[in-house]
Amino acid sequence: MKYQCEHCDFHWEGTSYTFEKVRDHEKIHLKKSTSPRCKVCNTRNVDQPNSNHQWECKTCGNLLDANGQVVNLEK
Ligand SMILES: [Zn+2]
Ligand SMILES: [Zn+2]
Repeated sequence: MKYQCEHCDFHWEGTSYTFEKVRDHEKIHLKKSTSPRCKVCNTRNVDQPNSNHQWECKTCGNLLDANGQVVNLEK
């Protein structure tokens, strides 16, 4: 079985025993059906979410989480 999320680049391949992963993934989109508003620019000018459900702001280029907060990639 294969699954490709239509909302982001999440994909899954496996048996019905692990299909729960897909169900869990789809819940993310149900909860967060709208893209976040960038806390830096205060716009919704964001790209499609990546597989980590982070959005890249097209204005400032920062990576945002579902709440619009900038994700700090530096550890
Ligand atoms: Zn997805
Ligand atoms: Zn921004």
